[in-house]
Amino acid sequence: MIRGILMFNADSCDECGSCLEQCPDAQYSREKAIAEVRALKQGLTADILSTCITCMACNESCPNGAAPFDRISMLQEQHGIRLVSGGRARMIETQLNSVPKRIIAGSDSRLPALSLCVMEHALPPNMADSGLFKGLTIVSGSPYYSRVVHLHTGMPSLTQEHAADFIGNLAALGRKEIVFVHDDCYVMAAVLAPGYGIEVPFVCVHLADWLSRVLEEKGSEVQRLGKKIAFQRPCIARLAPWTDRYIDTVFRLTGIERVTRRYDGMNATCCGIGLMEKYPERSRDLVQKNIADALKHGAEAMVFGCPSCYAFMSAPCMAAGLAPIFISDLACMALGEIPFEPRPHIRRDSV
Ligand code: SF4
Ligand code: SF4
Repeated sequence: MIRGILMFNADSCDECGSCLEQCPDAQYSREKAIAEVRALKQGLTADILSTCITCMACNESCPNGAAPFDRISMLQEQHGIRLVSGGRARMIETQLNSVPKRIIAGSDSRLPALSLCVMEHALPPNMADSGLFKGLTIVSGSPYYSRVVHLHTGMPSLTQEHAADFIGNLAALGRKEIVFVHDDCYVMAAVLAPGYGIEVPFVCVHLADWLSRVLEEKGSEVQRLGKKIAFQRPCIARLAPWTDRYIDTVFRLTGIERVTRRYDGMNATCCGIGLMEKYPERSRDLVQKNIADALKHGAEAMVFGCPSCYAFMSAPCMAAGLAPIFISDLACMALGEIPFEPRPHIRRDSV
């Protein structure tokens, strides 16, 4: 069982050390990992607080569902240990609060609403105009972003603080289902908010799940692309590991082979965006590791499900000859809306 943020369960933790022994960044021995876990439980300034890159892999790997990252994140905030400077964290929050609210009413109120949150600038241009989203109400702007980014800035209390408003704003749309383009928001609504005790009065639909539904409905109109492609798994998906099945379904329906590579699944590696300010070399290293791994295993393209990873890794993917593709574009390609070709992120106004 994967537990959500701020819900470290000390009683479930038997101090086996397996979580931090497997941490891709710490490289601890079992003994050191156990000592670190004990220090975390005592609330001390454990070494892992400054080593952690907030990939959340330890929450997924803990066999007891104790959620060690929740403890790490809470102590990072308590001790002021952050991946980003205080100035940068405040700037992020100011920018997140400044994206204007927009609602474009869909033609069929029985259909879900599609939330672009504050990520419109990071998505493929005019993504929501695709036939994939025909009739859906489209919403975007600050009220529809979950603030899950603060699990990476070392301020998880801000994520929790915004949760009720976030759910309330979406609930006010009055739709039975909300489709989320951003894993951050899907995880907030499907996992974290219920964990905080907030009632979620709509069904949460992951973007890849929605794409699968549309592709299933289109049946014989869907062309099999017959390509070998790597997937860049977003860190936050560690809190909703079932979403990986939705990715596999999109790949199956579009005739894509997901290459088996080192940095996928449980062993996935962060795109590095959160390290850019304080640790640019570590950030570049993560990008290059992912790209080299995909190429080594025969991938022609890298598919992204997270708009941030897509925007961040598009240029280096292009430079390395690996076509960047956002997952909705993959569905558009299979439906003949656009040709199969590199579809890098195009820089425009950002939050
Ligand atoms: S958090 Fe889980 S994996 Fe880590 S020491 Fe505790 S029980 Fe073991
Ligand atoms: S979140 Fe990732 S980097 Fe941080 S301790 Fe857990 S596994 Fe290591």
